[in-house]
Amino acid sequence: MEIRIVTGDITRQDTDAIVNAANSSLLGGGGVDGAIHRAAGPDLLAHCRKLRETTLRDGLPVGKAVATPAGRLPNDWVIHTVGPNWHQGQHEPRLLVSCFRESLDAAVAVGARSVAFPAISAGIYGWDPAEVARIAAETLAAGNPAWEESIEEVRFVLFNPSLTAVFEDAFGVSRA
Ligand code: ADP
Repeated sequence: MEIRIVTGDITRQDTDAIVNAANSSLLGGGGVDGAIHRAAGPDLLAHCRKLRETTLRDGLPVGKAVATPAGRLPNDWVIHTVGPNWHQGQHEPRLLVSCFRESLDAAVAVGARSVAFPAISAGIYGWDPAEVARIAAETLAAGNPAWEESIEEVRFVLFNPSLTAVFEDAFGVSRA
């Protein structure tokens, strides 16, 4: 499983799946969630509404993940996960660990061989980006045989170069 850290827009990745830092409603929001829904078009919202009417009537809990088809995005799947909201007192690292683990498990379940992640919770939800990056690195380092077997690439797509540097530091990537 290769880990790549890049600066870019998560709606323009050639991975089988992209992860959305969603909110519990799954019905869209700001930040990366809004960007993903805009790029995916109305089909993505329709898939999310269907989940809310069936298996997720109370919404998606913090730390959980669920996959839907990706509408007109270039990907096959959007994996929606709900990060902890620092501003609402959700400060436990295990919640963020769970987002990364559940998202990778969801990727395995749908057969996605490459997955792109944004910096979950590091925007509107107010977590320190360095803490998000550290937790991502530790969770990936701890590993899981199912991920190793079926996922070829995990890509972290950061919205600006300074955030990319934070992730590179956490993952021990040396910069030229
Ligand atoms: P959260 O509510 O989980 O904090 P946000 O969407 O507010 O989620 O922010 C998460 C991260 O995603 C932030 O670092 C933000 O800059 C970044 N981001 C916003 N739009 C995009 C995008 N199109 N591609 C990649 N990252 C993005």
